[in-house]
Amino acid sequence: MTTAAIIVAAGRGTRANTGQPGESPKQWRLLAGEPVVAHALAAFAGLFRVLVIHPDDADLARTVAGDALVVAGGASRAASVRAALEALEGRGISQVLIHDAARPMVSAAVIGRVIEALERAEGAAPALAVTDALWTGSGGLVTGTRDRSGLYRAQTPQGFGYAAILAAHRAFAGEAADDVEVARAAGLDVVMVEGEETNLKLTYPGDFQRAERSLQTERMLRAPGPEGAPMDVRMGNGFDVHAFCEGNHVWLCGVRIAHDKALLGHSDADVGMHALTDAIYGALAEGDIGQHFPPSDPQWRGAESRIFLAHAAELARSRGFVLTSADVTLICERPKVGPHAAAMRAALAEIMGVAVDRVSVKATTSERLGFTGREEGIAAMATAVLLKTEGGQAA
Ligand code: MG
Repeated sequence: MTTAAIIVAAGRGTRANTGQPGESPKQWRLLAGEPVVAHALAAFAGLFRVLVIHPDDADLARTVAGDALVVAGGASRAASVRAALEALEGRGISQVLIHDAARPMVSAAVIGRVIEALERAEGAAPALAVTDALWTGSGGLVTGTRDRSGLYRAQTPQGFGYAAILAAHRAFAGEAADDVEVARAAGLDVVMVEGEETNLKLTYPGDFQRAERSLQTERMLRAPGPEGAPMDVRMGNGFDVHAFCEGNHVWLCGVRIAHDKALLGHSDADVGMHALTDAIYGALAEGDIGQHFPPSDPQWRGAESRIFLAHAAELARSRGFVLTSADVTLICERPKVGPHAAAMRAALAEIMGVAVDRVSVKATTSERLGFTGREEGIAAMATAVLLKTEGGQAA
């Protein structure tokens, strides 16, 4: 199997721009010191790579392309991909991964899942189930709700047998949101594999900040420190308890879970997120949540706990630390945590701006003993490890 990767960087998207005159298209803006395109190309190192660009960007492309084949795109996304597919003809390519340059953080794991799925499917693409409620809206008002069951968010790379997707593109006319649409129009079956929250598409200015934080963390942790460079490792723990009260749901580690009780608290009472926030403050020797967000202050009434966790993570970053691991244990008989653990890890990782494999959420019961055993409340404990190397800089 010879696999090629097509990196599509021909668009002229402007939603990511901040309004500065002369701003580059988003795929050429710098992210952690390198153009977004360069990150996307690096993710597919080892495969035969094709970079599809806007004809105006030929000079920029030369600076990042390396051994990738550079192809000028067309007027639409579909036309750009087709140009790249045509350029691959006669090169002995058997399958192709088509990836948006605006997703620079795609992991080797996601790429591997798509390639693996192609062994048994005509097409494969990463996707994430929609977990947020969906609304319709008009003029700033909510006008209705939509059922989210069976809805997925599409990601890239989208993989196909080379001959099949080339034929599909040749037969396709008009605009397509992505290559799965083109493939399906040609009757190909496309299987979904698990995507990742960190495989985000840079669309708005805030997306760049999130991506920058995450890449800085990964870079600092992988970079070999100078010989004998001092390493500053901090560990903190946190513990929290909230009592049950009447209600129909609880918030745990950023996930809303239907339950026959609620948790009592000044904020949203997310006991897991409070313990983790305190663990980070603890590692920094910076007190606890109550000091930074006094319960006596009415502005924190009903507050989302993500505000607290984001503050602690940002404080660590501003001191030059990266979060290398976080581990939360929830102690309760009910609700069952297991089915929600993956969503909880993703939510915490997103808020803290770190990769999800650095974040653990697990649960235990107390064997029906004590206040958690009697289902009077939920307890949570957490550990956070922060690291600063001499080469690390404050963000
Ligand atoms: Mg609390």
